[in-house]
Amino acid sequence: MDFRPIPAIFVADAPGLDFLNSVATPVDVPVDWIADGEGLLAWLERSGMVPARALAAMRAQFTAAEFDSIAGEARALREWFRSFVGEKKGRPLARGDLRELAPLNDLLARDDRYGEVVASGSDGAAAFEYRVNRRWKTPESLLMPIAEALAKLACEEDFTHVKACEGPKCTLLFADHTRGHARRWCSMAICGNRAKVAAHRKRLKERESA
Ligand SMILES: [Zn+2]
Repeated sequence: MDFRPIPAIFVADAPGLDFLNSVATPVDVPVDWIADGEGLLAWLERSGMVPARALAAMRAQFTAAEFDSIAGEARALREWFRSFVGEKKGRPLARGDLRELAPLNDLLARDDRYGEVVASGSDGAAAFEYRVNRRWKTPESLLMPIAEALAKLACEEDFTHVKACEGPKCTLLFADHTRGHARRWCSMAICGNRAKVAAHRKRLKERESA
């Protein structure tokens, strides 16, 4: 079993970008949180994309090799979508970009969802609400919430404010939802502080040599 001592990173402010960030270099060595099936299951649970109950039922039903194979598909999907985001970020998406999303639409067409009327969670509102569930019949179904997150990213996110962290060795992406769109770092803890320390060192050096 792969040991991943560092928890997966969720700093993108957009689930589709969090998925792209499931491979990153938080310290010195690249970590791929979905390098195998076990990693994919853990990441999906941590992201909240698949209910823990559904994951437990699937674990009992399918083999490690089957999950490994789906993790491979998830990584291919991730790298394909990363190139799309890398190319398009910094400007709004245009109608002409839709053609390139055909593989995503092919995947979405395989989704197995169903509706359900459930008791409403909020007091005072209607007694019931409509919920969309997924049938988790095959390991492949684990790709569906990911595909949904990527689709929502393309449909709902203004790509003008999709950014790559400015950390020199950082590969993390995020959606800048700050007022003024001045966000520069994946997180202060990872790259922001590193940049502050570097700037501080530079100032000290300049002062010394002045
Ligand atoms: Zn960063």
